[in-house]
Amino acid sequence: MPSAAHKILHDTFGYASFRGEQQAVVEHLAAGGDALVLMPTGGGKSMCYQLPALLRPGTGIVISPLIALMQDQVDALKQLGVKAAFLNSSLAADSAREVFGNLMRGKLDILYVAPERLLTAGFLSALEQLQDGPGLALFAIDEAHCVSQWGHDFRPEYRELTVLHQRFPAVPRIALTATADAPTRREIVERLALEQARQFVASFDRPNIRYRVMQKANARQQLQAFLETEHADDAGIIYCLSRKKVEETAAWLKEKGWDALPYHAGLDAATRNKNQRRFLREEGVIMVATVAFGMGIDKPNVRFVAHLDLPKSMEGYYQETGRAGRDGLPADAWMTFGLGDVVSMRRLLDSGDAPEERKRLERQKLDALLGFCETTTCRHQAILRYFGEEHPGDCGQCDNCLEPVDTWDGTQAAQMALSCVYRTGQRFGVVHLIDVLLGKATAKVEQFSHQQLSTFGIGQALSQAQWSGVFRQLVAAGLLETDMDAFGGLRLTDHARPVLRGEQEVWLRRDAEPVKKSHISKAERASRAKEAFAGANENPLWLTLKAKRMELAREQGVPPYVIFHDSTLLEILNRRPASLTELGEISGVGQAKLAKYGDAFLGVLEDIG
Ligand code: ADP
Ligand code: ZN
Repeated sequence: MPSAAHKILHDTFGYASFRGEQQAVVEHLAAGGDALVLMPTGGGKSMCYQLPALLRPGTGIVISPLIALMQDQVDALKQLGVKAAFLNSSLAADSAREVFGNLMRGKLDILYVAPERLLTAGFLSALEQLQDGPGLALFAIDEAHCVSQWGHDFRPEYRELTVLHQRFPAVPRIALTATADAPTRREIVERLALEQARQFVASFDRPNIRYRVMQKANARQQLQAFLETEHADDAGIIYCLSRKKVEETAAWLKEKGWDALPYHAGLDAATRNKNQRRFLREEGVIMVATVAFGMGIDKPNVRFVAHLDLPKSMEGYYQETGRAGRDGLPADAWMTFGLGDVVSMRRLLDSGDAPEERKRLERQKLDALLGFCETTTCRHQAILRYFGEEHPGDCGQCDNCLEPVDTWDGTQAAQMALSCVYRTGQRFGVVHLIDVLLGKATAKVEQFSHQQLSTFGIGQALSQAQWSGVFRQLVAAGLLETDMDAFGGLRLTDHARPVLRGEQEVWLRRDAEPVKKSHISKAERASRAKEAFAGANENPLWLTLKAKRMELAREQGVPPYVIFHDSTLLEILNRRPASLTELGEISGVGQAKLAKYGDAFLGVLEDIG
């Protein structure tokens, strides 16, 4: 006989089995225990508190800082037949009163609430009443890393949530986050008084994301080729460093016929909301954005995240790329970078007014990211290693696994480059240094009499582009650094010495030809697309199913994925259920959705035949 938890999983959520640690978490909470859950984005955290909230008597209270998201989360739960509501500042007074009334009458299974609302004296005493009456099922503290002062998302109110433990010791608490690092985890435990909580830590691997990092040749051309060959109809995010570049890139894409929108903190709130809404509610919209965009975007079918500029750290890269493929279907993380990016990123870090210690930390983080960019081994492994986790083997999916990188003994070239930096006085930029190595008699070379140097013209065995790759890798490896006092000229670091003395070899990656459009062959691309969408995009039935989904979504004012996820729609396409019973067996079709939409989708299947 299925357990009560399995029954809800199947009947309400429409899923056949739990994922990873979900079942253990659900059982632990159902039995009244506290939990700290660390799972990557897309790992299925919401199930960990939604299901126990339904299982236990009373209302489950979910604390979330993401006001903009509550509406969609509540809409999605209502679609499942769950009695859900939210309370935050976006709600009109009479709607808030209604929700509050329903809460106090025990009519809600789940209530989402913003922390500042929860912490008011009035609300806390209402919760005490509720506890004595219809009951409190649990407290879920979502985005728990917001207690950490060191993260980007620090919310002071989060630190006051210990009041839950003090005033409601009998109500189980579950804190959840996708931020994995040990210091943050320790801070969560301490700040939320979760010392007694059981910790559930999932792997942070995102096996469905294909990581690709390539040298920048012509970034726009490279981006366009990537979009055309791999994501012609898909929703995705393109990250840029500056607002200006966001604007320019979005305008350029639009001109090229893409449905692209800008998003950054400099746009007024109305425009930002409008663009975000279109991205969420429509299909195939590309958001060009600064990192201001993303926190709390839980659109499941973001098919790619592209970086036209370097993120600031591995943490940033992981978080930003992690917004792709929450639904578990294949997705791409794609990035181009060049020496210029490295230099300007360093400059940005150096020129900030953070204290020196902080700057040093940020430089180290950037260096780790650069090391990742230049790595010649499996990217999934490299990411997990950074976060202190072992990966069982090569993923067989990333650029480096699919097309092993050629390396070459660049010791001699590195020595030439480093001594050229040294002999020119450690204050020139890479363009001039390459001119000297190639023996070009430019005006600048003559001005500084650099044709007299022993390094003048010694590098003619390599091309301009190859030298540029050598310098980029030497900077990335920390043998050279940019000198802010010399307008970004390069100078040696301590790590350069053993190389110059011939005590250390330098192996460099052979840069891929910049003309090459993609690391993946056509056949490979086709099979990957097939694996995901079974040629769906050319299938008229697929388009009709999507149109039906969009129609239903519009009618109800919800995003299409709230009706059915892509994965569910794909299964409908592939299995062609002929009856409500067959449709009900498909993953993601629970009883409420079956009753509401079953006939509409069966109708579509019948019409097409
Ligand atoms: P997170 O909050 O950890 O990023 P979500 O809770 O949004 O992840 O879940 C990610 C996706 O996985 C959602 O589309 C959700 O419906 C789906 N999902 C969660 N649990 C299961 C399960 N047991 N079986 C199938 N799909 C699931
Ligand atoms: Zn790999």
